[in-house]
Amino acid sequence: MFWADTIADEVERRYENLIKAGLPLVVRDEKTASGRVHVGSLRSASMHAIVADVLRSRGHNVKFLFEINDFDPMDGIPSYLDTTTYEKYMGVPLCNIPSPVEGFENFAEYYGQEYVKVLDKVGFGAKVYRASELYRSGVMNEMIKKALERRALVRDIYFRISKSEKPEDWYPLNVICENCGNLSATKITGFDGELVDYTCSSDTIAWAKGCGHSGRMSPYNGNAKFPWKLDWAAKFVAQEVNFEGGGKDHYTKGGSRQVAEAIAREIFDHEPPYGVFNEFFLVGGKKMSSSKGGAATAVEMAETLPVHMLRLLLLRTPINRQIDFDPDSDAIPVLYDLYDKLAEKYWSGVRDDDSQVFTFSHLIDERAEFPVRYLPRFSQVAFLVQMPHMDIYEEVAKMKEEELTDLDIAELDERAVYAKRWLKEYADEKFIFTLQQTIPDAVSTLTETQQSALKLLSDKIELLETIDGQTLHELIHEVKGESGLTPQEFFGAIYTVFLGKDSGPKVGWFLSTLTKDFLIKRLRGEE
Ligand SMILES: [Zn+2]
Repeated sequence: MFWADTIADEVERRYENLIKAGLPLVVRDEKTASGRVHVGSLRSASMHAIVADVLRSRGHNVKFLFEINDFDPMDGIPSYLDTTTYEKYMGVPLCNIPSPVEGFENFAEYYGQEYVKVLDKVGFGAKVYRASELYRSGVMNEMIKKALERRALVRDIYFRISKSEKPEDWYPLNVICENCGNLSATKITGFDGELVDYTCSSDTIAWAKGCGHSGRMSPYNGNAKFPWKLDWAAKFVAQEVNFEGGGKDHYTKGGSRQVAEAIAREIFDHEPPYGVFNEFFLVGGKKMSSSKGGAATAVEMAETLPVHMLRLLLLRTPINRQIDFDPDSDAIPVLYDLYDKLAEKYWSGVRDDDSQVFTFSHLIDERAEFPVRYLPRFSQVAFLVQMPHMDIYEEVAKMKEEELTDLDIAELDERAVYAKRWLKEYADEKFIFTLQQTIPDAVSTLTETQQSALKLLSDKIELLETIDGQTLHELIHEVKGESGLTPQEFFGAIYTVFLGKDSGPKVGWFLSTLTKDFLIKRLRGEE
């Protein structure tokens, strides 16, 4: 079963009453806007988005919330920012730090909005809100009060579940210092039911500087923030969440998810939402991982693939299995091949898990009708766009053995754009081909047996009336058999005389894109 259907089934089972009452099912996800967003975070966003999407497709009322967490403190300075400028903000909520680029209200807005744009583009868009708004609205006040009053029980939960020992004088909350604005450097020392006493000191935590101020203030309406695990639990309650998962790092035994669930139940008297973990989305490839401060960003990925391909990449793998994607390798051509296979199956009328993956790989407004079109193999398009002497429309029409329709042309144009981008930005050297205008030097490395096999091939080609991929394919295999060469030796020799390297695209098809005269001459070693 398509993994998102399995999750949606469980959501329906657990929230049957809510559904019957016509109340919305709430799906929530969040991202801390502490810098450029790594592509890996698309895994979590896609899980929530697709579950919301599947539930909606079943006719349910779904509220999908995405939080830009702008209230977390800065706890590290991204490598691409100036340390001396940002040092002083360590421990300050992200929404109170200036944006690195003009035109944005604050630091978190700059990075948060960039990410939200990507989510909108890939159709993972949700109702966006900010963590700062949630705290300032007062909706967290009741939970803040409960956590402060039940702090002994909070300590007990931390110890019971995660074996983490908090000092006896610990309060599960940080206030924003009225004097210097730091959050991480403050420490609450007392609570009378309404106001807290606090100090702001460099002794509180190693990486944030306090100002030495001490005071008494209200912890409500955005003056304070929970530490992470309580924060998570409080948001389950505040937003009445029904489905929210998270990265598998949060789902370890004694990890933040277990602690948050216990806090929701025991401190806030609220049943936590259903959730599952998502595995990681790793991006290999030298170029992508070294391009922007050592991290492949979500923005970059959204430019590397068209929307439906990026969605397919994120949806095809069960959410509890890792995705390892390396754009330098053949991962992109292979992804296109998968898409083509799913499309053919879908168009043939089969409806199964594959057709679910195919359907949800498209944006909602593309789904109702998905007309048949010719899908030229991406690897072949990538080869064609490197051959300036060829008319790609003509070559693809030959592959199709029919004239191209407008839809075919639109598809080809899109593939050509992304193929060029792939070749320029990522593709490994082995995918780069140049048809050699003169006989390449590498030909001198061919053995006599290889040379005579090429000669035999040219003789046979000369006898052909017309040359097409299939005929050449058969001929090439015939000659290979007669030559006694291994496939690598024989095909390598063919690629060498034309491309100056011993590998290339599917050989019969490749040769069919050249003229007969050129083929014969080059195989015979004539200029
Ligand atoms: Zn201070």
